Amino acid sequence: MSGGNDTFLGMPAFPENAAAAVQDSQLRFNLRKATHTIRAKRAGVVGELPDWLELRQAGKEIKDHTLRNLERYLLQLEEAVTAAGGQVHWAADAEEANRIVADLVKATGETSVVKVKSMATQEIGLNEALQAEGITAYETDLAELIVQLGDDWPSHILVPAIHRNRSEIREIFQDKMADWGRAAPEGLTDEPRALAEAARLHLRERFLSTKVAISGANFMIAETGTLVVLESEGNGRMCLTLPETLISVVGIEKLLPSWRDLEVFLQLLPRSSTGERMNPYTSTWTGATEGQDFHLVLLDNGRTQVLADKVGRQALRCIRCSACLNVCPVYERAGGHSYGSVYPGPIGAILTPQLRGMSSELDASLPYASTLCGACYDVCPVAIDIPEVLVHLRAKAPHPRAERLGMRAAGWVFNSPGRLAGAQRLGSRFRRFVPKHLPGPLSAWTNTREIPDIPAESFRDWWNRTDGGVR
Ligand code: SF4
Repeated sequence: MSGGNDTFLGMPAFPENAAAAVQDSQLRFNLRKATHTIRAKRAGVVGELPDWLELRQAGKEIKDHTLRNLERYLLQLEEAVTAAGGQVHWAADAEEANRIVADLVKATGETSVVKVKSMATQEIGLNEALQAEGITAYETDLAELIVQLGDDWPSHILVPAIHRNRSEIREIFQDKMADWGRAAPEGLTDEPRALAEAARLHLRERFLSTKVAISGANFMIAETGTLVVLESEGNGRMCLTLPETLISVVGIEKLLPSWRDLEVFLQLLPRSSTGERMNPYTSTWTGATEGQDFHLVLLDNGRTQVLADKVGRQALRCIRCSACLNVCPVYERAGGHSYGSVYPGPIGAILTPQLRGMSSELDASLPYASTLCGACYDVCPVAIDIPEVLVHLRAKAPHPRAERLGMRAAGWVFNSPGRLAGAQRLGSRFRRFVPKHLPGPLSAWTNTREIPDIPAESFRDWWNRTDGGVR
């Protein structure tokens, strides 16, 4: 039995990953089919609402207001959760969060946990950290189960196994289910109903025998200390309600001030993510319930650093709907694994480099994983201007020294009409000596396009000479 996913860190930069991924025609077919289906469904249900743009604006403003007053609302949340019998833990980084969760599980005496989809726990590598402590984490979301059984990585926010088709899923179930618990039924076909039934039987056994659950949350309501999970399968609700101990690991940006605010997001999220008017299961809980202990681990892990960046902080508005992935031409071709992070696609391209920094080659390449076409911004239900943040991060990414010097020189020239005119004349005079391709560290600029020919005379000089074409 494998211990789950390997780490994403240490992967090559995005261009190399993408170049390999686009060669996989099966992957491209799976991705194209899935993203186009969800995209069309989303467009249909969003088009039904005449006030969609007002809703979107409301979502944006609520999130911005919450982020501006995060400290106040977090303290309010802590007070409310504690008053309702829950225990709140603060984790500054992944290591601290993993240690808190491992200690909480060990205190129960259990060696296995069930998990309902939580991107935050994938972000911090919780499964691997628990495994190091002798604790096995079982994923219970259907797509996460496929990823875990296949010893694979998630490649989409909402549909982590989007890169798999049903015959691949049948093979994974047949080969691997027995290693993790109840085996797949004999003669399993690749009919969706048969696959879902196999997963249901496998998971049901797990739910009934496991005493500790780990979850994430889509939202946290500060005024009452309530956590909210939206899902489609009902597995989440089993995971949240059956075990004797529930530990929720949630990023601090998931906060909303009040229940009234939730109303806006309950309309924005299902329509943007699965293209449904309403999601099938909405679970809410406040503190400990009868027969269940509750722990809330509030995770920072770089979020306050993102909050300090005036342009980049809008990424914290994200409600993980995945609409931006489904419309992105780069994601559609390169697939989620190319981004080397639990957050793929356009949101990953702006969130990962901010959370992890840009010291690795991979993270520094992510702001370039976009054509800046703006489709992601158009569909984002909380109006995150992803292209704006991409350009902002490109400016902050490390650049070769020659490029920095070149840009500084260009800035100096463009800053003065006289210097620009002089440079143009110089360029025209020596245009025969200008190469088609730049050398060394600047070569990336002209790898796929040549330097255009410099005209014999600049437009300004032509205008002055002919008085705008009159002479
Ligand atoms: S950035 Fe916007 S569109 Fe993309 S996942 Fe987040 S909320 Fe959804």
